[in-house]
Amino acid sequence: MRVITKIHDMVEACNIAPRPLGLVPTMGALHKGHQSLFQKARESNRSVVVSVFVNPVQFASQADFESYPRDMEKDLEFLGACGVDLVFCPSQTEMFPIGMESRVNVGGIGERIEGKLRPGHFEGVATIVCKLFNVTRADRVYFGQKDAQQNLVIKHAISDLNYAVKMFVVPTVRGKDGLAYSSRNASLTAMQRKKAGIIYEALLTAKKLFDSGEFDSEKLRNEAKRVIGLEPVISRIEYVSIADLVTLEELVTINRSALISVALWIGGTRLIDNLILSH
Ligand code: AMP
Repeated sequence: MRVITKIHDMVEACNIAPRPLGLVPTMGALHKGHQSLFQKARESNRSVVVSVFVNPVQFASQADFESYPRDMEKDLEFLGACGVDLVFCPSQTEMFPIGMESRVNVGGIGERIEGKLRPGHFEGVATIVCKLFNVTRADRVYFGQKDAQQNLVIKHAISDLNYAVKMFVVPTVRGKDGLAYSSRNASLTAMQRKKAGIIYEALLTAKKLFDSGEFDSEKLRNEAKRVIGLEPVISRIEYVSIADLVTLEELVTINRSALISVALWIGGTRLIDNLILSH
């Protein structure tokens, strides 16, 4: 496994790497969710490239950026065990040198749900991912269903900007209690972690209601909120959204496939999750 920190070296390494080349962008603090993406990439590519970069331009606050979990040493060990070929872990100034002000904005899809609460977030995401496409010229790229809106943003960027890369979405990997693996879970106390399975339980409860024929999104949202409300460890619900699976426009009646997604706080930790409601 080669670990590369400079764009120039990464371009050269990707130029000579056997093709097809599969890319998995991450922000590190790696876990089993990331691992399933690496495995998927390993199955069908001759070269697997993983980027580990905590992207400053997708964070709204400096405090959130600084407190994001980081453990490069452990990540490199993990990546070695996963059979990754190239790791790209550039510095902040390597990716965003002073004067680099270009941004990729994909419009409406990045302004709904999460984007409404975190202005500029998806612009930051699309910018870094497009930079990674340009540096690696990846044939395939792998993302997790956990970040459903991010996937739609990248899908638009790939199509709008004519990238040749093929995108794959891998199902969300969950713990025994249903909590989605997330780097941010590391910030939960043992007691908070024990109770956090309620997020999945709430989504599942709403999904079961939908599967039994209830298509009124307000009823589903209220049911999800009720279940979350049973657990006092959840300090604040930011949103429960039920939106069109393609456009992410909020639905009053769920008359087509939809995404139910939540964002909430457990103490100082913000967690997101989602499920698909398929018609
Ligand atoms: P992150 O490091 O959090 O930016 O995530 C990097 C990639 O891993 C993204 O495509 C995420 O959607 C994906 N990912 C994160 N958590 C999970 C999970 N629990 N299951 C599957 N994919 C995940």
